Amino acid sequence: MRAEGAAWRLTQDYCLDAPGPTPVEDIAMDRGVLCLEANLTGCLARLVRKGNRGIIRTKAGIREDGRRRFAIGHELGHWFLHEKESQVFVCTAEQMRDYKGSPTEVEANIFASELLMPTFLFRPLAADATPCLQTVSGLANTFNTSLTATGMKFVELSRHECALVLSTNGKVEWAKQNGNRSGLRFEKGMLLHEGSLARYLTERGGKSGPSVVEPDAWITENWYERRLEVTEESWHFDEYDSVVTLLVLTDSDEPREEDMIEHYECKSRGLRT
Ligand SMILES: [Zn+2]
Repeated sequence: MRAEGAAWRLTQDYCLDAPGPTPVEDIAMDRGVLCLEANLTGCLARLVRKGNRGIIRTKAGIREDGRRRFAIGHELGHWFLHEKESQVFVCTAEQMRDYKGSPTEVEANIFASELLMPTFLFRPLAADATPCLQTVSGLANTFNTSLTATGMKFVELSRHECALVLSTNGKVEWAKQNGNRSGLRFEKGMLLHEGSLARYLTERGGKSGPSVVEPDAWITENWYERRLEVTEESWHFDEYDSVVTLLVLTDSDEPREEDMIEHYECKSRGLRT
């Protein structure tokens, strides 16, 4: 709440009232923080504060502008929220997708996400939009943000039950899902199921469209015994050897196989089902 509130106040201060790229460097400069690129090793960005002046350095050569902008947003989160904690922050790519661990890193990520993709501007475009990676990609272009950061925001605000998964070399790196009634369970390092498109594309590359897959490809424990239809869309990125996957879950009208067996067994015994 604190991080979202601080980012929201900036959107009001700088009159960000239409969907588009948030001018993070301009906001930083106006608040006394200079943004530079540098040959950093072992981290993606660094913030150094001296009184009411600061410098944010981002690693030179970050391929995606959206990723660089998220790094600046993350360091601005430390700038606005964590003056008492430290005057220097050195942040890795892993910390910039941390939404569960260190409270300061989580806050900086929430701040960056909210500053770059203000909820009041993002939600109207995402809530009822078709849940697919083309939609996410379009939103990433609108806000000049990375596909993964945009996908996480999309999952958070979509009315559809969905999850975003990033896997590298056939193993899950991280995942974000809305709701938890499906039996989707992700752990870092978990091997992709051989029935998933993500596994297929890890070996062959390329992109899939949204396709219905066997629920077992992703659902390990169907706690609520729902009849689910799982639609998977996966895109492989050669430069990272990673696959971004969007899963959409819907309740299926089709009876499950075990229910059919039970139905016929009961029928053969003259019982109603
Ligand atoms: Zn950080």
